[in-house]
Amino acid sequence: MFVGHFAIAFLLWRLFPQVPLPVVLVSVSFPDLLWSLLVPAGLEKVRINPDSPLQKFIIFEKYPYSHSLILGNFWSLLLGIAIAVALNNPLVIPVFVLGSASHWILDTVVHLKDLPILGFDGDTKVGAGLWRRPLLAFIVEYAFYAMVCAFALSGASLFSALVIGGVFHGINANSFLGLSKKNTVKSSNAYAGLALFGFGAFTIVASLVI
Ligand SMILES: [Zn+2]
Repeated sequence: MFVGHFAIAFLLWRLFPQVPLPVVLVSVSFPDLLWSLLVPAGLEKVRINPDSPLQKFIIFEKYPYSHSLILGNFWSLLLGIAIAVALNNPLVIPVFVLGSASHWILDTVVHLKDLPILGFDGDTKVGAGLWRRPLLAFIVEYAFYAMVCAFALSGASLFSALVIGGVFHGINANSFLGLSKKNTVKSSNAYAGLALFGFGAFTIVASLVI
């Protein structure tokens, strides 16, 4: 999931306006940002299918540090504390962990059964697998994004969020709709780099515009 995560950032920002928008945007991206660094570092493993861009064919072999409910949110707690100290704003700690936990919860809707709960060997893995129905997943993710944005934002901010979300979701369309026959992403490191770029670009654009 990509733009859907950011809807929760806007919701958290509406509920806790004392926490700066870039901080909540990073919090909901945190598991994927961490993952995008741990894959090239060799600590987490993903396998892409060279013959298809569809997300249901991506095999997330191992990502206990970034994408487990318990261990993943332990790191987000540490980063949340560091940001809270830097900004002298203790509210950042619970909001940052909530944002990061929301990422894991939303991922369980779309991912196949590959998301660890604890983050240690022999772990139970969960995932409802909405990606198995790519067109439905494509529609549901933007509909969810738009609905939460409509609740959290208003006026020009809402309009900007809907446009930014639509553009980024459109850029991500190939991974739902299989518009290219082969996978345009050629390696797991390239896939991780794309995630870093995508989450980073959305965070910067949304921070500047909204
Ligand atoms: Zn994720």
